[in-house]
Amino acid sequence: MAGTGGSAIRGSRVGAGPMGEEDKGFQADRVVRSYYCAMGHVQSPAFAAGIEESEIPVEIDCPNCGLPAGQDSKNPPNIAKHEPYKTHLAYVKERRTEAEAKQLLEEAVASIRIKRSAAAAAAAAADRAEKASAKKKK
Ligand SMILES: [Zn+2]
Repeated sequence: MAGTGGSAIRGSRVGAGPMGEEDKGFQADRVVRSYYCAMGHVQSPAFAAGIEESEIPVEIDCPNCGLPAGQDSKNPPNIAKHEPYKTHLAYVKERRTEAEAKQLLEEAVASIRIKRSAAAAAAAAADRAEKASAKKKK
C-alpha cells in the first residue's frame, strides 16, 4: 500500500503533469517595449504578454549610460530633471569649497611657476654655456 502511494506521488512529479507546460512558456507572446535614453541608446526589454500595463515601467535606467530611458523616442526623459550631467570640474567644485579651490589653484600655479622658472633657469644656463663656448671659439 505504501509503495503504491509512493509511485502515485512520483507519477505527479513536476514535469509529468500540467506543470510541464511551463516549458512551452518560453514561446509565449511577449510584450516588447522600447526605451530611449537621452544619449540615443535603445533598450527593448520583453515582458510577459499577460503583464498588467501598470506593471510595465514607464522609465528604466539605461544599462549603457545609466540615464533614465523612456518610451517616447522623440522625447527621452529630460536628464536635467534627474541627476544632471556633471563635468569633472563640477564634481571637483562639489567636493571643494571656493576657498579651497582657490588655494589648490594657487598651489598648482605656484608649482607650475617653479617648474617653469627652473626650466627657464636651466635654459638660461644652457644658453650662457653656449654663448660662453661660442665666445671661446672667437
Ligand atoms: Zn543610454
